[in-house]
Parts: sequence; structure tokens; C-alpha cells
Amino acid sequence: MTNELFKEMDLSPSVLKAVAEMGFEEPSPIQAKTIPAILRGEDLIGQAQTGTGKTAAFGIPMVERLDHRSKRVQGLVLVPTRELAIQVAEEITKIGRHAGVKVVPIYGGQSYDRQIRALEHGAQIAIGTPGRVMDHIRKATLHLDNVKTMVLDEADEMLDMGFIEDVEFILQQVPEERQTLLFSATVPEPIARLARRYLKHPQHISISPERLTVPLTDQVYYEVREHEKLDALSRILDMEGAERTIIFCRTKKRVDELAEGLQARGYTAEAIHGDLNQVQRNRVMKRFREGGSEMLVATDVAARGLDIENVTHVVNYDLPQDPESYVHRIGRTGRAGRSGTAITLVTSREFRQVRQMERVLRVHMQRRPIPSPQDVAEKQREALKARLAEEVERGVLPEYQELVMSLAESYDSVDIAAAVIRLMVDKGREPQAEEFGETGAEPGMVRLFLNMGRADRIGPADVVRGLAEGSGISGSVLGLIDIYDRFTFVEMPHDVASKVLRSVTDIHIRGKSVNMEPARPRV
Ligand code: AMP
Repeated sequence: MTNELFKEMDLSPSVLKAVAEMGFEEPSPIQAKTIPAILRGEDLIGQAQTGTGKTAAFGIPMVERLDHRSKRVQGLVLVPTRELAIQVAEEITKIGRHAGVKVVPIYGGQSYDRQIRALEHGAQIAIGTPGRVMDHIRKATLHLDNVKTMVLDEADEMLDMGFIEDVEFILQQVPEERQTLLFSATVPEPIARLARRYLKHPQHISISPERLTVPLTDQVYYEVREHEKLDALSRILDMEGAERTIIFCRTKKRVDELAEGLQARGYTAEAIHGDLNQVQRNRVMKRFREGGSEMLVATDVAARGLDIENVTHVVNYDLPQDPESYVHRIGRTGRAGRSGTAITLVTSREFRQVRQMERVLRVHMQRRPIPSPQDVAEKQREALKARLAEEVERGVLPEYQELVMSLAESYDSVDIAAAVIRLMVDKGREPQAEEFGETGAEPGMVRLFLNMGRADRIGPADVVRGLAEGSGISGSVLGLIDIYDRFTFVEMPHDVASKVLRSVTDIHIRGKSVNMEPARPRV
């Protein structure tokens, strides 16, 4: 099942393998439209925002069209910011991993020497900000005479930042016999003019939906940072009293990681995606339908065609790739006359995309603050009160009554009841952040000190692997990893930290047993 549609696109085995490893199950809408055209060598204007999969939309065909024997720059991507340069370079490196493609980001703020060395080593794709690319052209350290494909990414941003003249200058340095691709969220007149001047008969490709009926669902969003997502989601779900929830992630990998993260926190969550065979899939669905699991973590592909009733909450853990997919996802709640809630987690980079989605769909998503641990505790107290009241009304057992009465000869009965609650709550209780004291971590997180560092030749991946293998936690829940010469700090949510510290087996990093303890606060 997996990758069926990518396979139909006439891609080489090495690229298909890389795409599968990246966890992409099928082309996103913009990819479905652009990849075939780019492979045919056509110029195009792709109207798409960040989050739609636009990087791979040009990255995949660009890697395909390279002459792998030549080590000269054949693809040039211009982007507005250094962050985007780095991000695009990472994505294309992943796509080209098995094809042995060399990618170099070139941006202001990094030393010229490093970039020049990378270029001299033979980079086939260069990704840069206009100013720095121009500098390299002038210094004759970047040669563009072999460029076959040129991409202007986030062209409207480059316009807003005043780079348009630089972009034109660069376009004039690239051979005329080339393919030019322009990606932009909007196409204002100066961008349209640029396209008329430098693109040849471009197709204009956009992914705005035709007409969509948005279901009557409460739509809310929470602003989060990427590494806070799991922590925020747990609190939101606790607060909402979510019962049957479907959570959507972008890739299979993220689905697996999130399901694991939720399980580690005690939720009955199960993953469903294209790597599951029919038998496994049926089993997961049966448990969810019958209430054996409360959460289903899914990719869009896996959730398609599933008929699930009475879902109380749909969560967009990752934003959907286009408005249509948003509508499909949230259409899963509030069936059969019941109302449901659609929850979307939004990082600051994604606000533009959310606004655009609201405009296109004519909906309003209400912003809510992430519940604080105190809010959650209050909610849990309320729930406990209700449960106790229910229990009292059901009638109490005579032998317990006798026990309380005999205690009541010496103690106040309110104190006795409070002590019982403490015993009951402590039993099922997760350790709290306070138990670690102040460790200098971000709010909600705990910073652990590890007695290994750069001198032991460890990198972040070794730390993640060591923790995952030793205590079964997923790398995605970890926050900042700061590696110093002889020691390392790792941030993680407090329940994960206590799991790590309580883990029965030793934790090994690069074969060495590592000692861990809560860090002291920064001074
Ligand atoms: P972009 O719009 O290029 O910023 O991509 C947004 C995110 O979507 C990136 O994390 C990509 O790795 C991911 N992505 C791109 N294409 C796909 C796909 N076909 N399926 C799932 N995720 C994708």
C-alpha cells in the first residue's frame, strides 16, 4: 500500500527509498500536481504556503534530474532567510541520501571559508539567501554555468524583504537554457512580472479547494512550540475530558513517536498508518471502536475511508497540508448529531497558513491558552469529588463503615477521609516537577545532568538513542540537548525524567554506562 502514488511518478528506487524513510505515505496535493510537470522539464509557478510539502515538491524532481556523475552546481534554490536555507538543505539532503547527492546551504552569518570549501568539494545543489549567493558569484567561488534548475522559494517573502533586484541579478547569471520554478504563497504584481520575464510558459499551479462544506464542530487552536507539543496535548486532553480522540500527524514516523509518547504517559493510544497490514489494522480499529483504546494516532492516508462513530475530539498535532485535508480530518467528529471539538496545535511559523485556511474555509478558530498544571490539577480534583460523591450514593460497605467508626473515636472524620484520599491519589500519582527542585529547565520540563560529553565523542543522536534504548522513551519528547566537553544537559518533561531516573537497567551511551541526575539551576 505504502508509497503507491509516489511509485506511479516514475521516480528512481533511491529517491523512493528515501521518501519512504522520511515517512511520506503519499504525495501532498501540491506535490501531486507539480512533481510530474517538473520532471517533464516545465517551468511553473506553484502557489503554496509552508507546510504544504512544497520543499519536497521541487526537491524530489530536482534530485531526480541531476547528472549524478557531475559534481558541479546544477540546482540553485534562492530562499529569503538563513533558517529556510538550512531547512531546505536538510530536506533535500534527506531526499538525495541514497542517490549520493551533495547539497550546500550558503547564507550570511556563516564563514565564507566553510561555504567555499563545501562548494569546492563538489556541491550539486546550492541553497542560499540572495545576498550571500551574489557575494559568491562576485568572488567567483560559485559557478552557475551548469545550473539546469533554478528555484525561487517563498518569492513573495523575498520581495517583501527587498531582495527582488538581487534575485533578478542572479537570474541573469544562470544559463538561459534552464528550468525555472517559482514558489510563492501569494502572487502580487511584482512577482507576476518577474515570472513573465524569466519563466517560459509557466503553468500556474495552486491547491485552493473548490467548494468545501465545513462541519459544525467547535474549532479551537493552541499556540505551542514544537518540543512542547506532547506536554501541551496531554494537558489539553486531560482538561477536555477527551474520550474518543483521533490525532493526526504528518508522517508515519511522527505517528509512531507520538503514540509511544502518549503510552508512556499512561494513555491508551494506538498508531495506525500504511505500514500496518490489514490484520493489524483491523485489530487496532476494533479496540478503538469498542473503547479498549481511547486514542487513535493516524496519518491522513490511514484514516481515509475509516468509518468511526462518536469521536469526541479530533486533534491536528501537525497542521494538515491543505484546507481540504483539514475539512476531512475534522469531519470525523460530531457525527450523528453529536457535537465534537477540533483542536489544532499551531507553532509560530504556521500562523500564516492557519489564517489562510480560515480565510479559504470561512471559519474562525478560537484561540485558547494551554492549560497550566494547576488548571489540570483543579479539573482532576473536581473529577475526584464527583467520583467520591457517586461512590457514597451507591452505598458503602458495612465493614468499611465500621473501620471508619473505630478510627473516628480518636480522629476527626474529615481528617480520616482526607487521609484516605491521599493514599488513593498517591497510588496512581506521577511524580511532580517540584520533586526535582529547580533544574534550570524551561517551564514544565526538567533538566538532567549526564556525566558524558564531547570528550566521549557523543552527539545528540547518541544521547537520544541511549535514552530510548535504556528507558524506552521516544526521542521526540526530549527538549534541548546541550553537549559540553565532559558533561551534557538534556531537557525532558518531568514524568519522562522520572521514568528515566527510575529505569531499572543502566543507560548506556556509546557503550558506556552513564550517570544521570537532576541538574542544578543555571546561575
Ligand atoms: P514544507 O511545506 O516543505 O515546509 O513541508 C512541511 C513538512 O511536511 C515537512 O516537515 C516535510 O518533511 C513534510 N512533508 C513533505 N511532503 C510530505 C508528504 N508527502 N507526506 C508527509 N509529510 C510531508
